[in-house]
Amino acid sequence: MNSEVAEIRSELDKIRQKCLSCEKCPLCKTRHNIVFDDGIPNNKLMLIGEAPGFYEDQQGKPFVGKAGQLLDRIFASVGLNREKDVYICNTLKCRPPDNRNPLPEEKEACWEYLEAQISILKPRLILLCGNVAVQSILGNVGGITRIRGNWYPPESAIVEVFGAKMMPIFHPSYLLRNDTREKGGPKWLMWQDIQEIKREYDKL
Ligand code: SF4
Repeated sequence: MNSEVAEIRSELDKIRQKCLSCEKCPLCKTRHNIVFDDGIPNNKLMLIGEAPGFYEDQQGKPFVGKAGQLLDRIFASVGLNREKDVYICNTLKCRPPDNRNPLPEEKEACWEYLEAQISILKPRLILLCGNVAVQSILGNVGGITRIRGNWYPPESAIVEVFGAKMMPIFHPSYLLRNDTREKGGPKWLMWQDIQEIKREYDKL
């Protein structure tokens, strides 16, 4: 590990430690594990998802189970790898019961941790995976089906993103529920989006 990555990991670990004992919202009472991050801390590519689901809560790791495996296959299709190329985290660090959407007050309470993750890494590209992540960073810009695949400049964020360009993408759970590979369908669109993401990544 080079010294720069070690320093970033150490900064992130301070935030993770704070999170482990966090009781800022009622989700602390029902969580089994804090789900803080996965992948490699880097200043190129970050993916922000929604909130931990059942398996994430059990394992303390974001994007596991079928949705996580699909996400890994999507990245692999363009030669990207979560262990080497992508830093992954969620909007919320604790699982909402029954996988309901996070409440506004929960997102507000948990924002300090995501804000710290973005400010420590200062990634050049951020993928906003699903509507919850989009709303947290870009506000009400429309549903994911309409806005996915477009790059949003840093000025369009409602929070500080430290110069990152952002692209909303479908959540892999949505793709699992909409399995058609027809041209124009969700999986086909995701394929277009990941290729565009790779083109932008290669310019960095
Ligand atoms: S969801 Fe976030 S704010 Fe709420 S208890 Fe968990 S870490 Fe704290």
